[in-house]
Amino acid sequence: MADQRQRKKELKREARRLRREREAVEWEEHMVLQPGQLKDLLEFLDEQLGVEACDHSLRFTMRWAEAGGVDQDALEESVHHFGGGCDCEVLANVDPQTRVDTWPRYMEFVTSDG
Ligand SMILES: [Zn+2]
Repeated sequence: MADQRQRKKELKREARRLRREREAVEWEEHMVLQPGQLKDLLEFLDEQLGVEACDHSLRFTMRWAEAGGVDQDALEESVHHFGGGCDCEVLANVDPQTRVDTWPRYMEFVTSDG
């Protein structure tokens, strides 16, 4: 009996590890921004949406992209992939911290940045 419980635990741990690996690959494949850029964008959106409500478009995201010389079409496609259909969704869904340590590159960046 004890062995079975142990085995179940191991299977769960393994499943979690695999899921994280898959998510990390997903980030690498579909996120067009570097970790530092993404952090910057999320902070920008946090600020802007604190002043003006989301109007269900990506206006702030696109404004940020334009100011930073980021390809807007590529960015739009990228945030859409992660569930960001408008500015507030980008802030809520395209945030690696809600899936802690699934994108190792971002987590490394955030911790080393302080
Ligand atoms: Zn919105």
